[in-house]
Amino acid sequence: MKSLLKNSPSSARLLVEEFVNSSQDADEIVRFTQTYGPLDNEAREGGEFHFSLRRWKNLQSIFRQLWEGRAGRPVSRTFSGSSYDISIHNRRLVSLAKTLEGYLLMELAKAEATRLRKCVRPDCSNPYFVARHLKQQYCSRECAEWAQVQWKKKWWEEKGTTWLKSQKRQNVRKTSTAKRVRTSGRSLAE
Ligand SMILES: [Zn+2]
Repeated sequence: MKSLLKNSPSSARLLVEEFVNSSQDADEIVRFTQTYGPLDNEAREGGEFHFSLRRWKNLQSIFRQLWEGRAGRPVSRTFSGSSYDISIHNRRLVSLAKTLEGYLLMELAKAEATRLRKCVRPDCSNPYFVARHLKQQYCSRECAEWAQVQWKKKWWEEKGTTWLKSQKRQNVRKTSTAKRVRTSGRSLAE
């Protein structure tokens, strides 16, 4: 896809336009492939691929027919591919998956990547979730509450004793101040 974008024809011309206009000459097919990549093989940088010239010509004929079928028709129309049907409704591209796997892939591709999360609770039974807000780390209220309990436990283990001691010291101070107030209060009254 990267190489495809890099080599896109000028914006005035569609890539599909170049494709349907391309000659069926073997040399031309090679030139087209060198520029844009193979048609229905997954293009991987530096990876190998092969296809028959017949297959390429067949695909081109299909696209030529599709072009001719669509020409001048404002109505919506559906194109059939191997994994998706693609239709145009109100100038919007709508793709319909042909298999469940195709549908699942489409859902995953459409989802906002920053919201696709895995629950931080280690033994969560439904860990995969779509975050409602970007700070959400846990899949559910149950897991968030579990985390809070863990946090409190850890806090008590690490800082609880020191905190208790400081609380006692403060209480002692408070009582002695109270005593002083009471004493001075009485002396005032006397
Ligand atoms: Zn969870």
